[in-house]
Amino acid sequence: MFTKILIANRGEIALRIIRACKQLGIQSVIAHSESDKESLPVRLADEKICIGPANATHSYLNQRALVSAAKITNAQAIHPGYGFLSENADFAALVEDSGLTFIGPTADNIRNMGDKVEAKKQMTMAGVPCVPGSDGALPADSEQVIKIASDVGYPVIIKAASGGGGRGMRVVEKETDLLSAISMTQTEAKANFGSAIVYLEKYLQAPRHIEVQVMSDTHGNAIYLGERDCSMQRRHQKVIEEAPAPGITEEQRQKIGQACVTACEQMQYRGAGTFEFLYENGEFFFIEMNTRVQVEHTITEMVTGVDIVQEQIRVAAGLALAHKQSDVAITGHAFECRINAENAQTFLPNAGRIDYCHMPAGFGIRVDSHAESNYTVPPSYDSLIAKICVQDRSREQAIEKMRAALSEAQITGIDTNIGLHQRLFEDEVFCQGQISIHYLEKWIQDNI
Ligand code: ADP
Repeated sequence: MFTKILIANRGEIALRIIRACKQLGIQSVIAHSESDKESLPVRLADEKICIGPANATHSYLNQRALVSAAKITNAQAIHPGYGFLSENADFAALVEDSGLTFIGPTADNIRNMGDKVEAKKQMTMAGVPCVPGSDGALPADSEQVIKIASDVGYPVIIKAASGGGGRGMRVVEKETDLLSAISMTQTEAKANFGSAIVYLEKYLQAPRHIEVQVMSDTHGNAIYLGERDCSMQRRHQKVIEEAPAPGITEEQRQKIGQACVTACEQMQYRGAGTFEFLYENGEFFFIEMNTRVQVEHTITEMVTGVDIVQEQIRVAAGLALAHKQSDVAITGHAFECRINAENAQTFLPNAGRIDYCHMPAGFGIRVDSHAESNYTVPPSYDSLIAKICVQDRSREQAIEKMRAALSEAQITGIDTNIGLHQRLFEDEVFCQGQISIHYLEKWIQDNI
């Protein structure tokens, strides 16, 4: 096992990793920017090292500074958290080439899954169901492209092979718009992601977003930890997540989970990962794989009892998974509310000083947060300041618990979306469950 790990991240996820290290008896070093020097994770880590200014390009994204920081502090491994360099294959390779361990999948795993055309190819080989569409990248020949689209059936969606963050996609309703949409998406993809390769999929009209959490080790073991429903999204950003996904039967869970496990085995996947699906009319359709720990891993931890971050570290150190598939059971129901520092009307990020911060606590309530009274939320980063999670025996009881937790949460001095969450947890349709990925946007239009 490692004796010291460098954390190449900030905020709540840095704190989450520090806690996992403490429990495993590992020293933590946090690499931080100048603007984060007084933050809670920097104070709670065993060691700290400043790697650059607030601008992430020169700090949290500075690959060489991070590797040097690990070397100087004698850390043996780097945990990238989520965002920043967590899904950067070149960084994973640099870390490993420098004689350090990257706590995450291999550079090849990251590269292959970062190319969505390649990812779909591998999923198809493993028997994971994908959204019907072009078999690989779209060809240059217009007639062939028109034929592919009409075979798939309109509406279709054109997507950049290396797209991410909800960008590089265009929905096409009819044939006359097809070719111009493709060339626009290609131009954007080239400019934003450095590759003009695009592919085509059937556009699903009202799907749910359901994702499967997996964990694999380097001894050929892979398990799935059930699924999460993340359909409550605004601009492709998740706002509320829950586990398990309402209405999914144990039989469906096993079937899709097993397909994901087979895919992990085939690609010799290492560590934690998430298979994202659109779910419509009782069927799962793979869209992409995230090769890192996710923000919403917490609710899976709450319903399975598996510490995903500790497992990531153990697996990276070469140990076998601590859990077998037959040990994994789903208990009760969990929700996560992402608390963002943002304006309640415009949803624009809202940096500034928090005068007073009180977060809920109690039986079945978990808050992962770096926010505290007198903390100044810097403008340079993601607006997530807390994750309020609850778990209870049933979905209904978990809803009641979240209402109670939210009523206790207080952040003054800056605007947050706590009020939005309170209203959503009073919304009858959401409380009934099984809403589509468009529900929240529509709700906001009608209610804000
Ligand atoms: P990214 O990597 O940018 O997040 P994804 O492939 O995960 O891209 O797609 C992001 C979102 O775009 C999905 O959550 C969904 O809302 C929408 N989307 C993607 N593909 C389809 C599709 N075939 N049909 C309908 N919506 C889609």
